[in-house]
Amino acid sequence: MTKPAAKDLMTSLDLEALSRLSDRVDLPALLQAAGNMSDGQLKQLERMLSGAGDSAHDDLPTPNADFLGQFGSLTPEQRDVAAQVRGFMQREVAPIMNDHWSRDTFPQELIPRLRELNLLRRIWNEDGTRKPDATLMEGLITFEACKVDVSTAVFFGVHAGLATASIALGGSAEQKAEWLPRLLDMTAIGAFGLTEPEGGSQVSQGMRTTCKRDGDHWVLRGQKKWIGNSTFSDMTVIWARDVDDQEVRGFIVRAGTPGYAVEKIEGKISLRMVENGLITLSDCRVPDRDRLQNTGGWRTTADVLRLTRAGVAWQGVGCAAGAYELALAYAQQRKQFGKAIGEFQMVQRDLVLMLANVTGMLATCLRLSDMADAGDMRDEHAALAKVFTAARCRETVALARETFGGNGILLEYGVAKQFADAEAIYSYEGTNEINSLVVGRAITGFSAFV
Ligand SMILES: Cc1cc2nc3c(=O)[nH]c(=O)nc-3n(C[C@H](O)[C@H](O)[C@H](O)COP(=O)(O)OP(=O)(O)OC[C@H]3O[C@@H](n4cnc5c(N)ncnc54)[C@H](O)[C@@H]3O)c2cc1C
Repeated sequence: MTKPAAKDLMTSLDLEALSRLSDRVDLPALLQAAGNMSDGQLKQLERMLSGAGDSAHDDLPTPNADFLGQFGSLTPEQRDVAAQVRGFMQREVAPIMNDHWSRDTFPQELIPRLRELNLLRRIWNEDGTRKPDATLMEGLITFEACKVDVSTAVFFGVHAGLATASIALGGSAEQKAEWLPRLLDMTAIGAFGLTEPEGGSQVSQGMRTTCKRDGDHWVLRGQKKWIGNSTFSDMTVIWARDVDDQEVRGFIVRAGTPGYAVEKIEGKISLRMVENGLITLSDCRVPDRDRLQNTGGWRTTADVLRLTRAGVAWQGVGCAAGAYELALAYAQQRKQFGKAIGEFQMVQRDLVLMLANVTGMLATCLRLSDMADAGDMRDEHAALAKVFTAARCRETVALARETFGGNGILLEYGVAKQFADAEAIYSYEGTNEINSLVVGRAITGFSAFV
């Protein structure tokens, strides 16, 4: 440890607190890990160690967003997967995420390490059918990832959800045989191109990207915007409208296909670690064998989105739960006016509101996942969960950020990233308004779509 922050850490250590901590943590391992930490993380560790010296706060409850024990009914396998993802996020992602978030880059080195967890095979069977508890499993993975870093969950969701589901639901036996083993292994990474620069909400009716049959090829023209993972994906599923019969068709477009160009979208204020691309298709020729053979027009696209919307609802819960736990830990140790701020009534009220939000969101998503896995989930069910969790997530991260005062806007305290990332969750996979219209139509019997 030669960095200035490491020197500060060593000189500021409260040795008495350190000896008390040694009963609870593996100190040699902790100090070794500190050698690989960034300056911001070292400062956090310093605060943690000096806070441990306050004997009045030694036995405070550990922050836990599952207040009602709703995860109590998980099977041992589901618990095991959740624990694996939790460990992975703390060990592999937490030390590097702020750096990548700041630089707008996705850490490619995470892919081989994620591959070792073999998570897609907890969701998908080799033939593209889903495991009996696929939606719940996907939800747990998403929840644990989002508690630490939403971008990692989004990278995974685009690949394991949107892209893999497109092949699983729309591919022929040959296409599944070619792509599913590589997608499940994560030796090929997928992306999903639906949204266009001129609009996401209206894309089902106003899709401008076109395809036209030309012998044994199709010619694709148009643009796709916001496409996650597309800057480095091996294949991207592109949805286009057939100029001859107006049907929506899906295509597997391989990286490097002539006429296919991806420009990274820079300057996001949310999910900065996810690489989103603007794809331009200029007379891009795709062989007919790479047209998704089993798509039934827009219906297949909608089937994919329905499956993945439940996952996005879980993103809101994970993001909020992470922010709540950070805020509670901070409120227990941050002192003002000679007291921990968690001793103040108004701070407690905010913490309770955050916890109530997370509790309701968790109940909604657990029920939604059960319905999806039983085959009973309809569009409006997934839409209601997405509307609810995205809105409550936004409220929760704002309160959590507020708990940190000025520190709440500093990346190193963690909550600022959750705060910013909630904004993207609120708008993608159907905005709050569009999902509200889906639910509104179901409950009133009137369609208010224009
Ligand atoms: C970080 C990020 C990642 C994404 N990743 C992907 C991806 O991998 N693949 C992909 O295909 N897409 C992706 N998207 C796109 C996303 O799904 C769209 O942004 C979303 O569907 C909204 O579309 P839009 O941004 O064009 O907004 P618009 O459709 O232009 O909507 C603008 C506003 O108008 C409102 N509005 C529109 N129509 C109505 C109406 N009828 N009634 C009331 N209000 C209305 C909307 O609710 C919204 O508030 C991503 C987006 C983001 C931000």
